[in-house]
Amino acid sequence: MKYYSTHDKNHRVSLQQAVVHGLAPDNGLYMPESIPKLSDRFFKTLPDKNFKEISLEVAKNLIGNDIPEVELQRIIDHTIQFDAPLVEVESNIFSLELFHGPTLAFKDFGARFLSGLLGYFAKQQSKEITILVATSGDTGSAVANAFFNVAGTRVIVLYPSGKVSEAQEKQFTTLGGNITALEVSGTFDDCQRLVKQAFLDRELKKSLFLTSANSINIARLIPQSFYYFGAYAQLKQNDKPVVVCVPSGNFGNLTAGLMAKKMGLPIDAFVAATNANDIVPEYLRTQQFKVRASKQTISNAMDVGNPSNFVRMLELFGNDFQKLSAQIFGSTFSDEATKEAMRLVDSNSNYIMDPHGAVGYLGLKEFLKTHSDFTGIFLETAHPAKFADVVEDAIQKQIEIPDRLKEFMKGEKKSILISTDFDEFRLLLPTLIT
Ligand SMILES: *Cc1c(COP(=O)(O)O)cnc(C)c1O
Repeated sequence: MKYYSTHDKNHRVSLQQAVVHGLAPDNGLYMPESIPKLSDRFFKTLPDKNFKEISLEVAKNLIGNDIPEVELQRIIDHTIQFDAPLVEVESNIFSLELFHGPTLAFKDFGARFLSGLLGYFAKQQSKEITILVATSGDTGSAVANAFFNVAGTRVIVLYPSGKVSEAQEKQFTTLGGNITALEVSGTFDDCQRLVKQAFLDRELKKSLFLTSANSINIARLIPQSFYYFGAYAQLKQNDKPVVVCVPSGNFGNLTAGLMAKKMGLPIDAFVAATNANDIVPEYLRTQQFKVRASKQTISNAMDVGNPSNFVRMLELFGNDFQKLSAQIFGSTFSDEATKEAMRLVDSNSNYIMDPHGAVGYLGLKEFLKTHSDFTGIFLETAHPAKFADVVEDAIQKQIEIPDRLKEFMKGEKKSILISTDFDEFRLLLPTLIT
């Protein structure tokens, strides 16, 4: 399989180049040159397959022969170490729980698949691969844990001091080994600027093999399509049309769902649900794509003012607004509505949602008001304990903290404090690489 840049269809590269570089040299995003349909036999036997078997078939379909099948099998085994169960919350309303990974959010899928692929490509070159990642919380923890002890790789996490939760911070500052945390006395935007500047710095590029692990990497998107198939398999016999609601920020998760549909998965509609950062729902209403500064909300992993995967969504519909808006419904919710949904679902169904999943639940309910013949699935993207303060405030009771999160909390935080000055960062970086 070749991958092309969304800025230039004639710029085509191998899987290795797409994954190692992340972004195309013209700043476009990589897309597979074709998205083949899976066979009828695959779909007929889908309900009998386990999650790893499903994932391998889907991965082969998107990757082809670019890496040997035994290696792909190994990477799938490393990625799919946990389930994504479908739980019925109300009659005909299902939660797809994507938080059973080591850092309790769906980003574990993408980060683990990426680390498997980069680990494989690292063996074919002499230099250690240095992965720079700026984080406001979830991405840093998923990436750090996925790459921990992966030979030939080194991860540098930059995060804004005092602006991530303690649980998030512990997940990337306590590992040690090939994981280094840089605590920046500034904002998330400062962290992102430092990373971007490092990629533009010629001296650094010459001496280090730098790559990024942010969500535009195609290797993070591919595994996110696996669980749409997994969800469908768990529905078993279903004769109703299916809608999936995706709580969204950068729209990688929704894009992966659209790719699953292109591969033949019978999903009849998608809902793009957002918090107050409603750039895409507004586009679906008005056909105007207006980038804005992000607004802070209680579903903070979706506080995105310029959704980076939007161009991929357009690409999947051949840049045709009519086709896109016929399949994707937009909806947007305030923090107040989100808290009220968490409270109601807990008291009526005894099911605790995190604030991101709650936005997904609300989007699904809104769609079903006018489409009552559908079966609905919403993606529950994080464990509620990851946002314990907000959730406990909404449902007015204490929630249980999973053991794997408690383990992280016991670890000792180790970080290097730096300023927002690029020269300081530039001089420090080579000393961190062994
Ligand atoms: C990153 C994240 C999202 C947003 O996903 P996108 O693919 O960026 O749309 C939603 N929920 C949680 C918990 C996240 O960490």
